[in-house]
Amino acid sequence: MLTAKNLATSISGLALVSWGLAHAQLATAATAATAATAEVDAAYPKAYALYVDLHEHPELSGYETRTAAKLAAELRAVGYTVTEHVGGTGVVAVLKNGPGKTVMLRTELDALPVEEQTGLTFASKVHAKDSAGRDVPVGHMCGHDLHISALVATAGIMAHTRDSWHGTLILIGQPAEETISGASGMVHDGLFTRFPRPDVALALHVSNELPAGKVGVTSGIYDSNADSLRITIYGKGGHGSAPHLTVDPIVTAARTILALQTIASREVMPGDFAVVTVGYINAGTKNNIIPDRAELGLTVRTYKPEVRKQVLEAITRITNGEAQASGAPKTPTIDRYEAADAVYNDPALTQHLHAVLDNALDKDNVVAQGPITASEDFSVYVGQGIPGFYLSLGGADPQKYELARAAGTHLPSNHSPLFAPDVDPAMHTAIAAEVAMLRDQLKAGGG
Ligand SMILES: [Zn+2]
Ligand SMILES: [Zn+2]
Repeated sequence: MLTAKNLATSISGLALVSWGLAHAQLATAATAATAATAEVDAAYPKAYALYVDLHEHPELSGYETRTAAKLAAELRAVGYTVTEHVGGTGVVAVLKNGPGKTVMLRTELDALPVEEQTGLTFASKVHAKDSAGRDVPVGHMCGHDLHISALVATAGIMAHTRDSWHGTLILIGQPAEETISGASGMVHDGLFTRFPRPDVALALHVSNELPAGKVGVTSGIYDSNADSLRITIYGKGGHGSAPHLTVDPIVTAARTILALQTIASREVMPGDFAVVTVGYINAGTKNNIIPDRAELGLTVRTYKPEVRKQVLEAITRITNGEAQASGAPKTPTIDRYEAADAVYNDPALTQHLHAVLDNALDKDNVVAQGPITASEDFSVYVGQGIPGFYLSLGGADPQKYELARAAGTHLPSNHSPLFAPDVDPAMHTAIAAEVAMLRDQLKAGGG
């Protein structure tokens, strides 16, 4: 018979049993977490030394020879079969470990033509010739040095714990991400035909958008479609004192620039993301000469393919319309010289890996996020029909991050001369996240 007293006893008994269970589970999780932390801690000093070395020796897009050679040597040393010069300076490292899935993890290799001003003891002082032959400063101001170092540490851990997974692991060092040409270069050079074709592709990127120690997870569209346009508007040149004898392309260009701003504000549905930025205008040589042409350089960013199409068509319509309205002797030329598709995070894979990261890094350190406005050529791999997951890695010093948030300001973004991630916690988190995701994907019957 169940009396009130009995009931109370049973409930407390049940509570005790469930507390015991929870405690046992926690203890198992804690042991696993401690082991994971220990292997990351053990790999960190070497990874940090590599980071400092790479940071001091940045290389421009397409010229990553030293960086690629270093990466290749590190991966070879821990047992990977390494092929160099894939799509230029690209590196492909394969580790076969029995039957199972094939999983690819990617890092970029390149740095930027930016003069570093971080004041770090190992700040870059490097200058190099760019593709146009100009002398430019070079700095790792996008954090790709951190990605390479974390990937090398991950490579070592995976190679040394082959009993924890099975399948084929492919690590790639991709050149020329900043010029959104390296991924297609590697694909065209046989990345998915000369080497095992991946079932899943993974990558991450550090930024100051999150404090170091945290990661951001985005399902679906992760970043923007990017289109680079070069527009040449034609006029009729002449003397600056006699505009009536000319068609002034500078005035046409000015009207065009303002009219282009109505695309996002008046044509695209409110709430749909669209950016039309005119990043440069080149025209003329002297104040009293009306030139015969003006050149505009644009970057166009969108998320949805239909909005991308709408914006590009509107740019053509407005540019041609303004030229016609000015009496231009010739239709403008519009050259779309670079294009990158938005990175798409496979929703099922994302949901699955979100739970894996919750487990590996602690729930509080995994944040669900909306898409970012930047662009990336990781989309090329996804475009080949390979489900992808691209993770945001927190890089901000947590204290500075909180201070900036309280003050309503922002820490220096990627590409800023001041961009300097908080390497220790960011790299620990990167390695832990990579290892957890790879082991999950490469486990028996991997989800
Ligand atoms: Zn980057
Ligand atoms: Zn970048």
